[in-house]
Amino acid sequence: MQESEIMNRVVSLCKRRGFVFQSSEIYGGLKSCYDYGPLGVELKKNISDLWWSNMVRNRDNVVGLDASIIMHPKVWETSGHLAGFSDPLVDCHDCKTRFRADKAPIKEAGSAITYQIQPPGQKKQKIESVVGDCGYVCPQCGSPNLSDERQFNLMFQTGLGPVDPLEKIPELVAKENLQGKDLLKAIREAIATSAVYLRPETAQGIFVQFLNVSQSMSMKVPFGIAQTGKSFRNEIVTEHFIFRSCEFEQMEMEFFCEPGTQVKWMGYWKEERINWYKQFANHPENFRLRQHDKDELAHYSDDCYDVEYQYPWGWDELEGVASRTDYDLKKHAAATGTKLSYFDQQKQDPETGKNGWRYVPYVIEPAAGLTRSVLCFLCDAYSVEKGVDAKGVEKERVILKLHPKLAPYKVAVLPLLKKDGHPELAAKVAKALGDVGLIHKVDDAGSIGKRYSKHDEIGTPFAVTIDGDTVSDQTVTVRHRDTANQEKVHLDKLQEYLVQQLSDFSPSRLT
Ligand code: ATP
Repeated sequence: MQESEIMNRVVSLCKRRGFVFQSSEIYGGLKSCYDYGPLGVELKKNISDLWWSNMVRNRDNVVGLDASIIMHPKVWETSGHLAGFSDPLVDCHDCKTRFRADKAPIKEAGSAITYQIQPPGQKKQKIESVVGDCGYVCPQCGSPNLSDERQFNLMFQTGLGPVDPLEKIPELVAKENLQGKDLLKAIREAIATSAVYLRPETAQGIFVQFLNVSQSMSMKVPFGIAQTGKSFRNEIVTEHFIFRSCEFEQMEMEFFCEPGTQVKWMGYWKEERINWYKQFANHPENFRLRQHDKDELAHYSDDCYDVEYQYPWGWDELEGVASRTDYDLKKHAAATGTKLSYFDQQKQDPETGKNGWRYVPYVIEPAAGLTRSVLCFLCDAYSVEKGVDAKGVEKERVILKLHPKLAPYKVAVLPLLKKDGHPELAAKVAKALGDVGLIHKVDDAGSIGKRYSKHDEIGTPFAVTIDGDTVSDQTVTVRHRDTANQEKVHLDKLQEYLVQQLSDFSPSRLT
């Protein structure tokens, strides 16, 4: 199947089956904004909960935090986001596409190039030209006829408080006859008085609460603080459905460790993180670690690995595991005059040789995208099986082979009829499943075949059909999503059987 066809199919399934919708769709939608529907929100929550269990609840040395999205604006000045959280923006003079220079197709500066343009209302024209000194071309039309790069800050700015900062501007203009650049400067200064920002990452909330968390919880280095939540970036190019959007969710952890131990902890966390994804995957070979080249590293970072996934368009980032040194804590300490350090009574200070060592911890940061993980697991699970029906006609079976821990429903309860005691038995089965914590859906809409197809497509691992046999001899038919095999199980054994099947489940690659 073509790459674009897989994406089209995944996007269409998401809408048809209630995973992801275009935001404000009835108003024509808003570019790159998405709503997670009833099944999407379950899938997202399952991923987030599994991450939280793995990173926080199952570890003695990691605790959680839920910091506010809007923080003191000085946080972003100190962290460097106000001055430097920008991407290089370029305009194509030919097709008017606006793009990121660092993601543009690379071509050798000075090399000859042929590309096509089609001015409005005119025929296509072939143009021969030469690649400029920048060494890249327009990703849309291939033109080297480009604007200079300018830095575009990705943070969303808004104002805090009930004051309109622009109220005073007309008066100022009248009094001082402000025009052009002076007027722009006055407007910017007025806005800055109440400007706050939507956080572009969850990490800074953790750094600025380092002291409160470590003291209130008596944390001992090495320890981590984790949080999940929304982040916002005014991306120049949003792409690949929910892969890159302006509003998205992250799952980040800052792991504070002794200076000099960061290489060891980087080794530990990069393996932990890639293995965490692989355990839920049908195709673990589609996950890999890629170490950043020295020139890719942020100035404060001494090492970084990306967990990459092979999306339908190729390898791309899923998570970054960065060694951030002691940069952030030191910067916030210097800006606020707060001692953001750790005192280890058991250690000798390496400089003085005296007992007790106060130091600023180094940090390893596994920073994952939650909404990006939703896309990754949907792509990993999407599969199509070709077969023939009873009449010999070719047909396709679409199966979302989600790991049961990710699947929105674990069991579908399907009464064959809406009468003859089937609904009552379905309610009894549903209650029994609920009693052992199995998330299920009683579904009586449409033919049994259609219901099987629907639950295959939304990734429900097991379907329990209630029919005449259930009434007469208390047996149900359990259908397995991945094989379509069916088994008769007595109602008395159903709970135990399903709990066992789900705990034994391994992605289809292993069976
Ligand atoms: P990219 O190179 O794809 O722009 P990044 O390196 O800027 O990502 P980080 O700042 O390291 O991303 O953020 C950590 C994680 O947050 C990313 O690995 C990704 O999963 C997620 N993420 C970042 N930006 C977006 C976005 N615009 N939309 C969805 N997820 C995002």
